[in-house]
Amino acid sequence: MTKRLALVTGGEGGIGTEICRQLGQQGRKVVTTCIDPDGQDMAAWAEALRAEGIDADYVRCDVGNYDACEAMAAEVQEKFGTVEVLVNAAGITRDSFLHKMSADQWHTLIDINLNGAFNVTRQFINDMREQRFGRIVNISSVNGQTGQFGQTNYSASKAGLHGFSMALAKEGAPKGVTANTVSPGYIKTSMTAAIPDAVRESIVAQIPAGDMGLPEDVARAVCFLTADEGGYVTGINLPVNGGLFCSF
Ligand code: NDP
Repeated sequence: MTKRLALVTGGEGGIGTEICRQLGQQGRKVVTTCIDPDGQDMAAWAEALRAEGIDADYVRCDVGNYDACEAMAAEVQEKFGTVEVLVNAAGITRDSFLHKMSADQWHTLIDINLNGAFNVTRQFINDMREQRFGRIVNISSVNGQTGQFGQTNYSASKAGLHGFSMALAKEGAPKGVTANTVSPGYIKTSMTAAIPDAVRESIVAQIPAGDMGLPEDVARAVCFLTADEGGYVTGINLPVNGGLFCSF
């Protein structure tokens, strides 16, 4: 496989780290964005992956800020070269029932989870089209397919990623650029560790596979969709949910 530069937003997170690891194991150079102000956590993150033989680096960028994304893209190009694989994994939750949700909870989340995918992808799409190769994966969620109590903002942002990816798939196909979503169900990371025990037990009881998934399960789906040979698979949503929600 040709060594291609992969940019993973939110690459420091539970799922993002495993995506970086597996893309790196496939021989890719991986760069992640971080919002860590002093970079200490990220330096340790990159060091740990490098110790495993992964060619990992990071750049600072708040994906919710368009200008910051533009500057980040210039930095990535200058330091590491042209991005050929982009995984938009940065995401947050700001849970609240809609009748109690503040405008800030809505807008902050949409700015990062949905606008962030635009802000970042917009910086790299022209190069991908020009080089006639690009693999874009947007990390959505089962809750963007089914909706979830207390998550009108999160569900809307993740559902929006499906529309974004499908439209982008049509635009990119003639130029060798694919765009897909991966929709994890419940995955064991700090995001789900914040779920109260009683709620977690009731969620697990509904998962046919009998447990929450692992970041590795999500990363494998990303690797499938970003493979050099994956050019004909575009505009799809690949669920990774242990049978929690089945659709076609
Ligand atoms: P984490 O909280 O572990 O990771 C999220 C990452 O996003 C972190 O690295 C975080 O950085 C980064 N991030 C947050 N805000 C910004 C920002 N403004 N700019 C740049 N980066 C930012 O969560 P997960 O690994 O669990 O989730 C990864 C993705 O998978 C998310 O999009 C999430 O919605 C999705 N997902 C997760 C599921 C799960 O069960 N865990 C289920 C379905 C979808 P920092 O650590 O510095 O804050």
